[in-house]
Amino acid sequence: MITQPGRLKEEVYGLGGRLLDLLFPARCVNCKQAPGALCAKCLSTIQPISPPLCERCGRALVSSDAVCPDCRAHPLKITRIRTATWHEGAVREAIHALKYGKRRDTVAPLAKLVAAQLTASKFTFDIITSVPLHPSRQAERGYNQAELLAQETARLMHVPFARLLERTRATTDQIGLDGMARRKNVHGAFRVTARIQNNSIVLVDDVCTTGATLDACAQALFQNGAHAVYGAAVARPRSSF
Ligand SMILES: [Zn+2]
Ligand SMILES: [Zn+2]
Repeated sequence: MITQPGRLKEEVYGLGGRLLDLLFPARCVNCKQAPGALCAKCLSTIQPISPPLCERCGRALVSSDAVCPDCRAHPLKITRIRTATWHEGAVREAIHALKYGKRRDTVAPLAKLVAAQLTASKFTFDIITSVPLHPSRQAERGYNQAELLAQETARLMHVPFARLLERTRATTDQIGLDGMARRKNVHGAFRVTARIQNNSIVLVDDVCTTGATLDACAQALFQNGAHAVYGAAVARPRSSF
């Protein structure tokens, strides 16, 4: 297993990787046929989450209320959350390939979705950051997928990226936990590591379900002087109520 490769090692692997790319060009993570990370045909199947949305957490609403029942019952501290699309089909495949299949080439198309959603939301912000991984998880994966997405989103939107947070304890996977258990699982798990001066911050993650992780990060950012915190995730499950 490769653990935290040094710079030289990284360059050698990078060279090897580029050679492999030439010999065996990457195939679309969804249809496994067309070249590229996500081919044009598979990209065209991705639908944005369309209004009406809960103005707080960004879930699609079935009623004409401004805020969803969950946000009324447990108001989030985070200013707003918006997700680009549903966690299904081509996007689900792409996020899975990024997290577990080392397909870093999916970052570009996925970050494009986040940037488009942020543009549509008309939020004003001055820094983009990401939900941190626990160092042990990051060493295992070799990178933090949320950070790669945040960096590319920042580049597309001409806004600086900054590392602002760290995860102080390894949390269990949120999958299978209900809303209350999710909030408890991540409560107090994040610490701010950089100076924040009344900034309006976009916090990027790959998947948002109840918003508990984004909210726990936002609480740490607010406690350290953030003016506003906007959560921006690529995707959320349809059944996130
Ligand atoms: Zn495809
Ligand atoms: Zn809501």
